[in-house]
Amino acid sequence: MSRIFNFSAGPAVLPVEVLEEAQCDLVDYRGSGMSIMEMSHRGGVYDAVHQEARANLRELLNLPDDFEVLLLQGGASMQFATIPMNYLGHGQTADYVNSGAWGAAAIKQARLVGNVNVCADCEKDIPARVPLQSELKQTPGAAYFHYTTNETISGAQWKTVPKTDAPLVADMSSDILSRPMDLAPFSLAYAGAQKNLGPSGVTVVLVRKSFAERASKAVPAIFRHPTHIEAQSLYNTPPCFGVYMLMLVTRWVKRVGLERLFRQNADKAALLYQAVDASGFYRGTAAEACRSDMNVTFRLPTAELESEFCSAAKKAGLDGLKGYRTMGGIRASIYNAFPVEGVRALVHFMGEFERTHG
Ligand code: PMP
Repeated sequence: MSRIFNFSAGPAVLPVEVLEEAQCDLVDYRGSGMSIMEMSHRGGVYDAVHQEARANLRELLNLPDDFEVLLLQGGASMQFATIPMNYLGHGQTADYVNSGAWGAAAIKQARLVGNVNVCADCEKDIPARVPLQSELKQTPGAAYFHYTTNETISGAQWKTVPKTDAPLVADMSSDILSRPMDLAPFSLAYAGAQKNLGPSGVTVVLVRKSFAERASKAVPAIFRHPTHIEAQSLYNTPPCFGVYMLMLVTRWVKRVGLERLFRQNADKAALLYQAVDASGFYRGTAAEACRSDMNVTFRLPTAELESEFCSAAKKAGLDGLKGYRTMGGIRASIYNAFPVEGVRALVHFMGEFERTHG
């Protein structure tokens, strides 16, 4: 077996022990004589997996009692549409922060549904950053306030939770479970699983029942959060294999511990930012105060050198470093399951590349 160091932004590296467990379970899941992909989602064997996945998330996120855990399909992108469809009524305004490409993507969809106030816009700022609390021009009585906790593409991450009187809604796709979190200020949080939680195909939505009660009834059942709350995410066929993987990943997070993962993530990110800062060759692209612990972004002096950097890194067993297609540059995504040895290998590679190309 040879595993490379995979810096992919998502789908992203998974813990090897989880992959191995899944491999053992694949053909005959725990004596059932079939794989988890082949059995009814209405049977007891799958149900135990489904309920454990939800319970693990509840426990790890220390969710207040009135939160529901939904395991859906459609990715975070579907929530860009379903959140305003459910919660942005006629005559109401929702406040959205545009802190980067994903914030902008959420805004674009919400605008198709209702009235949106972009309460701060720093999408195009260089260095990439998230706004200060004082910059947020909020709407009194807003239907909700939406922001993106970590902009996966630019590498700008919120280090505090914004203050608002409106129900707080967050896209946590790229930093959920990367640190101990307090969901108490939130009404709704969502994330595609393919970074810290498992494979793509599962979307986690955490929503307060009291907030979900406001959902519009004029929305088709499949897109309504209350539908999935009532059915415990078994309204239709769930993404069974993805939920099973999420269950294994959350078990792994419980074994390692969220505090420990947080410290490891901070240490990994610090190693990389130190390497960037110590050189006159690499240039960090996110403002220091909001540098992401998950996606470390930097540039080289020219696009040609960046492309050479990525191909040479790939040959050295370091893959997935090319920045997002619209952004360029280098992006090292170092989610929970990414090993510190891989970060050390990248730091070493960066030193060598600078020595030979700087
Ligand atoms: N939001 C953020 C912060 C993301 O990083 C991504 C995907 N990388 C998305 C939304 C879109 O997610 P999906 O592909 O699951 O729809």
